[in-house]
Amino acid sequence: MRPACTVLLVVVFMGNSIVTAQLASGWKAHDLNRPAPMVVTPGQECGGAPSDAVVLFDGTDLAQWQVPDGGDAKWRIVDGAMESVPNSGFVESREEFGDCQVHVEFATPTTVQGDGQGRGNSGVFLMGEFEVQVLDSFENLTYSDGSAGSIYGQYPPLVNASKKPGQWQTYDIIFRRPRFEDEKLSTPARMTVLHNGVLIQDGSEAYGPTNWIVHHEYESIKDKTRGSLRLQDHGNPVRYRNIWVRPLVEARSKPELAYDTVTIALHQDTAEKLVGKYGRHRVEFIEGKLVLFFDGNTPLEMIAHTATEFGFKKSAGRLEFEVDDDGMGTAIELNLDAAGMQTAKRKN
Ligand code: MG
Repeated sequence: MRPACTVLLVVVFMGNSIVTAQLASGWKAHDLNRPAPMVVTPGQECGGAPSDAVVLFDGTDLAQWQVPDGGDAKWRIVDGAMESVPNSGFVESREEFGDCQVHVEFATPTTVQGDGQGRGNSGVFLMGEFEVQVLDSFENLTYSDGSAGSIYGQYPPLVNASKKPGQWQTYDIIFRRPRFEDEKLSTPARMTVLHNGVLIQDGSEAYGPTNWIVHHEYESIKDKTRGSLRLQDHGNPVRYRNIWVRPLVEARSKPELAYDTVTIALHQDTAEKLVGKYGRHRVEFIEGKLVLFFDGNTPLEMIAHTATEFGFKKSAGRLEFEVDDDGMGTAIELNLDAAGMQTAKRKN
């Protein structure tokens, strides 16, 4: 629609960064240009690997694993599980990961031997540095920040969700790696863990790479952005099965095209001529700003691109006015990404 007359404008070019900086995600609400989520087919069975997962162990072989110096893994396969061989050392994935989702299933020995840290001890190390403790914590007291599901030496689990010795258990871990800016830590590693489906770590921020008695400082890994998934040999024959990892996108997408690259400021008398009811909607001029009340209720602050064409500050869509020779609004054409196109004539 075209304006029927020329209206007086004050043209102000505003940097787009001013507008997008006001958007929490960088995106206007319901923008149809926002990329659709990638399709991932979930595993057929509960705990099964989704279609985009890297399967590190499916019960058949240790091809995806090595010892930390690069040689073949020394653990053994028993009944479709990989079992820690005492004193054979850690095993680690050949592939390295940064941000990731990890699923592991483990079972501590059915025959209980030892106590405290000596009973069913192993561990899942994210990026090779941050241990989610594996331990037989069923009626087995030890220091809390070393019990099953602890971020070892730093965070006890929120609850003890351990099953009995010998039973298969699950860890589902969401890991966000630490970030550094100018070689200084900007964001610590963050871990969320479900143990047998129970939340036990809720975005716990590690103080540094985990270790016995003291933790390391982040300084030691400031150049590291990826690392192996590492499983600990602590001298107890702990078994693992069904291990898979989903690398996670490290940052959400931003719009490729800038919003509202040109905006103008309307004179108050020009803006006020657009105020009124248009079908189910209402336009008001509030504190120097035009606001569309969608369906008469939901306020959407408008951004003028021309005297008659508008976008919205935080929602995707556009609004165009038809005006008469005096610049009075007579109708609108509203096209919101969330609600489609509609037109309405002015009621008053
Ligand atoms: Mg351990």
